[in-house]
Amino acid sequence: MNAGPAKTRGYYSNRMSFLSQGRCAVFEEPVGAAGVRVRERPETPVEEGQVAISVRFAGLNHLDLWLVGGAQRVEPPRVIGADGAGEVIESAGGRFKPGDEVVVYPVDCDWTCDQCQAGQMVYCRKFGIAGEHTDGAACTRWLVPERNVFPKPKGLNWEEAAAFPLTFLTAYRMLVTKARLQRGETLLVVGAGAGVSVAAIAIGHHLGAHVMATSRSLEKMAAARQLGAADTFPSEGFSGPAREATGGAGVDVVFDSVGAATIDEDLKALKMGGRIVTCGSTSGPKVTVLWPRLFFRHAEIIGSTMGNVSEFEGVLKLLEEGVRPVVDSVFPVDQAKDALEHLDRAEQFGKVLLRME
Ligand SMILES: [Zn+2]
Repeated sequence: MNAGPAKTRGYYSNRMSFLSQGRCAVFEEPVGAAGVRVRERPETPVEEGQVAISVRFAGLNHLDLWLVGGAQRVEPPRVIGADGAGEVIESAGGRFKPGDEVVVYPVDCDWTCDQCQAGQMVYCRKFGIAGEHTDGAACTRWLVPERNVFPKPKGLNWEEAAAFPLTFLTAYRMLVTKARLQRGETLLVVGAGAGVSVAAIAIGHHLGAHVMATSRSLEKMAAARQLGAADTFPSEGFSGPAREATGGAGVDVVFDSVGAATIDEDLKALKMGGRIVTCGSTSGPKVTVLWPRLFFRHAEIIGSTMGNVSEFEGVLKLLEEGVRPVVDSVFPVDQAKDALEHLDRAEQFGKVLLRME
């Protein structure tokens, strides 16, 4: 537990809303993967409005790499992992009972401000993410606000249930809410392999878009096609083949989390009036845009991060309809360092998980 107020990006939190207890993977030092250690934390009773969850699996994200590298300016200690699925141990309210199988909406917000009341948790001044601004899922006993807890979608196994929350929430808001992707439109997903891109391919395909994806790896291109991508192209100079595949018109929506290295190709691949939607820039925070490419194409570049609780419910509905997250690999929690290093090598296709038992 934190010794004092945790200074986080944008706000001070005197009390953690999510508490990680039992056996935990804890970020202790900003030195990369080696700064995460497995620790035993004491258990405290469930308080009003809380649900205690026995976490089966926790999912890692690129966010965890930034955190352990010190880029998020989060003061350790912090338990990592935004994604968790498990069984209810105890619930202080009436909504859940012991043994219920649940997943967690990984957004920390106050639920009471005007934005939250209007359903815009992402605009809340107290907005945070589990495993970053508050303690994460990589623990054996996770105390979570009851409003963040939802029944595990039927048909998902435990690994899959821990593999979707952050990435599917992010991709869903980007495609459905922000980029207004329509059935029959063309969607180009840049950099297939990262969890959020894999989610975008699965969601785009399910929504009836013609999905294309780029990758540096032939194996990832094959995996993207298996997931529903109709066309795949090598990362180098992808705008040419993408335009060709649309008969020269260009694509309706580009989904990009690579940013700096790919924005020029994104714009060149885009149809007149097309939309680029982005949730990050893994290739560096400063992005150069050739301005005429933007305005002559009447293009939109749309930013997005995480999602609202209504969008999380939208994701749960898609999962009930048969959309499946992709699990790349599972590491026992004792090997959290190896799991983070695997994620850092960017060799994965889909999600890297920690087994908590
Ligand atoms: Zn709020």
